[in-house]
Order: sequence, then structure tokens, then C-alpha cells
Amino acid sequence: MTRFIFVTGGVVSSLGKGITTAAIAVLLEKRGLKVSIQKLDPYINVDPGTMSPFEHGEVYVTEDGAETDLDLGHYERFSQAPIGRHSNYTTGSIYSQVIRRERRGDYLGKTVQVIPHITDAIKDAIRSGAPAGTDVAVVEIGGTAGDIESLPFLEAIRQFALEVDPREAMFVHLTLLPHLRASGEMKTKPTQQSVGKLREIGIQPHVLVCRCEHPMTDEMRRKISLFCNVRVEDVIQEIDVETTIYEVPIDLKAQGLDDALVRHLGLEKTTAQDLSDWEALCERIRHPRGEVEIAVVGKYIELHDAYKSIYEALDHGGAASGVAVRLRKVSAEECAEGDVGRMLDGVHGILVPGGFGERGLEGKIRALQWGRENEVPCFGICLGMQAMAIEYARHAAGIPEAHTTEARSDTPEPLIHLLEGQSEDGDKGGTMRLGAYPCRLLPGTRVAEIYGRDLVFERHRHRWEFNDAYRERLEAAGLTCSGLYEEGGLVEIVELSDRPFHLGVQYHPEFKSKPLQPHPLFAAFVDAAAQRAGLASAAGVSPQETHS
Ligand code: GLN
Repeated sequence: MTRFIFVTGGVVSSLGKGITTAAIAVLLEKRGLKVSIQKLDPYINVDPGTMSPFEHGEVYVTEDGAETDLDLGHYERFSQAPIGRHSNYTTGSIYSQVIRRERRGDYLGKTVQVIPHITDAIKDAIRSGAPAGTDVAVVEIGGTAGDIESLPFLEAIRQFALEVDPREAMFVHLTLLPHLRASGEMKTKPTQQSVGKLREIGIQPHVLVCRCEHPMTDEMRRKISLFCNVRVEDVIQEIDVETTIYEVPIDLKAQGLDDALVRHLGLEKTTAQDLSDWEALCERIRHPRGEVEIAVVGKYIELHDAYKSIYEALDHGGAASGVAVRLRKVSAEECAEGDVGRMLDGVHGILVPGGFGERGLEGKIRALQWGRENEVPCFGICLGMQAMAIEYARHAAGIPEAHTTEARSDTPEPLIHLLEGQSEDGDKGGTMRLGAYPCRLLPGTRVAEIYGRDLVFERHRHRWEFNDAYRERLEAAGLTCSGLYEEGGLVEIVELSDRPFHLGVQYHPEFKSKPLQPHPLFAAFVDAAAQRAGLASAAGVSPQETHS
């Protein structure tokens, strides 16, 4: 039997519901339970793939090639839950299914309505998110209680809980206890009102998780319990963490969250293992042996969420190397115009992330040129790898006009071009090269040494590719094409093999990095930066076990 935990949020958005949901999964897994996690998003986009990073932050890509909400990144980094296309549904994806069925005549002449047809489709989606053998399915509902647009989801989970055994489904509600500086008090009223909103539609939370800046007093706990109709021991404090989000599972366990959950689900017999691995990780993060500064040269640097997985993966690399990573966020557009040497002066590593379109590309190329000429470790990801190849072709291989047809469709030197079958016209949603592909690493190269294996699976999200016609000329000039997608004959990795780290990958390694299993490329990049900063190498950075 699979049990379901529905996580809702109240009072304000951006409460960290994704991290709380991921932490719940960690605590249940530590009790030996098999957990799945799913997110239901109330917006009408069929998936976030068509949204600008400024709108919605990064698009997180799953192994099976779904473009999903960035919270799925937290789920995958924290837990072992299988994450794929059934782990994220939106209002748009649910409606498009129902409308397709209506057009096919599947509803046999009935009027098609939100209740029951949309809510039935949501309940089916919830079941599809929990593969066979799942003990507990954790389902996060996006948005805030009281929003018009999340109503069908709340109605669907209300029905869901009604239709199963009482121990099979429970509700966890995350709220905020705002602190008023003037009176020095934390207030419970918004929490009461938000629980009131849920009760109006028939949902009584079993557990309340209260975000707060300061510890909650016993008196506040009793008051919240009384007014919200939740037992005192089920009112859990989630206080702001000091150094890292990876403290959240440890704190929530100390507050008794997992005891509360298993009590409601009738799983008290499971015993919890300690969180020593998470504690050791947080210790390493709290006490680094030094600091490195990494420049991230991108188009969306104003918004931290736009490169969420990259920043997390850098931190994982830092934890593996025992150093703290300080970020210098550099605008790619300003790099094109300004004094690049001044903008990058003193950094120990340069990372150029993925991106779309022409804007910012020349700045990325300049940053990589400066990095190469000054022997600063450089890491190019997706568009960053394409920029690295263009930079080398223009300035070291005698192809001054080298370009990508994405930025200049009539370039005489299409070093980066569209693959056959890929087109710029037509539907934008879900039409890129997406998800995991095998990549064969060339023995004796830097990348093969870093991974410690010769075949890896990494996730893609792009349309343009390295043009094989240029491979020989670039190799003759010293740039090694060190990774290949053999079946498609595609170059996926370029590197300068004699450098500690000058490497570009067509895929997105950041999606497979976890705090407890840092991605080897991020670990090696941060380690190269640490050496550049004059720190000793953290020898024996272990290759990631999850790569199969
Ligand atoms: N715009 C480039 C392409 O589509 C790179 C995409 C990316 O960086 N994710 O190939």
C-alpha cells in the first residue's frame, strides 16, 4: 500500500516548500521507506520549458527528458526518489489531456467539467507519480492556499483523501510566522487564516510546519494548535538555516517532524537511522579550509534561481574539495563591451552556463578567451561549450569567422549548426534534444581521468551542435574532442588536455550533482580553482557513484 503526503503552502509564496518537501523525503528514506515525490503546478504552461528563466527560474531536465519545475532539482539532490516526467504536472498538462479526450469523444456526450473530470485527471496524475513499490508518495501542491488557480488541485487532494483509508493520506501545511520588528513579536494570525482557507474547502491539515526567523515559544505552539485544530506535537518549527539548505532535514528531524508523519500514516514501527552523512556534509560546509571565487558569466545573473542547479553543484564541488565557493556573477553582455580583465580580475575559475539566443554570446566568448590566455580554469556548459569551441576556433585555430548559426544564420563558418531534423520554426515546447544520452570518453583525456570511466550518461537540452566538419582543424590546433555520442556521431566534450581544467560539455552535468555525491566535473573544476587560489588539491576526489 502506498501512502500519500500532500504538502500545501500558505501565507506567502517562496516559503521553501520544495526544500521542505525534499527534506520530508530524506527523513522518510532514513526510516527505510521507499519514497516518490511529485509537484503539481497551477500555471497553464504545459511545462515550464517555454518560460524565460526570469519568469520561473531554471528549467530542470529529468533523465527521461522532461522539462520541469526547478523544485524537482531539490527533490533529486536531496533524495533517492525516482524523478521523471510523471513527477511534474501543471494545470496546462492536465487540461490538455482532458480536452484531447473530449475531442476524441471519450466522455460519451457528457458535459465535461472541473469536477469531476479535471479533478479525476489530477487524481490519476497523482497515482502515476508513485511507481509500484512506493511506500510513501510526497506530493507538493504549487502556489499558495487561497489562490484561485490552485483550487482544482486542492479539491482533487481533498477527494483523494476521502476515497482512501484515513491512514493512507495526510496533509502537511507550510506557513510563515512573520516577525514584527517594532513589537519584537512573531505573529500567528496569518497561519490561522491560511489554515482557515484550507478548512473552507474541506482540508484539515494534520501537521503544520511553521517557517520562522526566531524560535517558536511553547505558548505560540499551544495557540497555533488551539486555533488551527492541530495537535501541539504536530506544530513543527522550521527556523531559517544559518549556512546551508542541507541543514533543513537535520533541523526538521530535531523538531520531531518524521515522528509526526509516521504517527499519522501508521508507520511508527519503522526506525530511523541517524543523519550522520548529512551532519558530516554540513560540518564540511561550515568549516572550509579556504575559499575560491568563481565567476559565472551569464545572461540571467540577476536572478539566483535562473542557474540554481549550477550554483548548487558548485557548492557540492566545494564541499568535496573542502573549500567555500564565493560567486562573482558577471553579466555576459557587459563582458562583451567592458574591460573583461577588470571584471574577471582575481577569480580562480570561470564558468559559462547554458543559454539561448545571440544576446550575451560575444561576452561569453571574450570571458573564455581571457580565461584561456590567463590560465584560469574554465568550464563551459551547453551554450558555454559552444562558446568555448568558437573562442578557440577564432583565436587559436585560424578561423576568425567561426560562429553559431543560432546567432548568425548566414555565417561562412558554421562551427555550431543545427542538427538535421532540428529546426527553428514550429513548436517551441518539448522539441529540443532532451534528457540522458550516452557519451563515450576518449581514453587518456582530462575528462576520462576526472570521471574515472569511459562511458557516462548525461542530460541534454539544446538544438545546436558542434559541426563535425571542423573537428580535424580544431584538433590539429590543440583542442581535443574528448567525448562523443557515438550513435549520432556528435562531439559532446572539448578540452585542452594539458590544462588542469579548460573543458566544455554540450550536456548539463549540474542536473546530476548531489550534495552527498558531488558531480566529478564540478568537484574537479572547484579543485582546479582551489589550486589556482594556492590551496593544495583535495586529492582523491571520488568519482560519482550514480553515473551508470
Ligand atoms: N542555445 C543553444 C542550443 O540550443 C544552447 C542551449 C543551452 O545552453 N541549454 O543549442
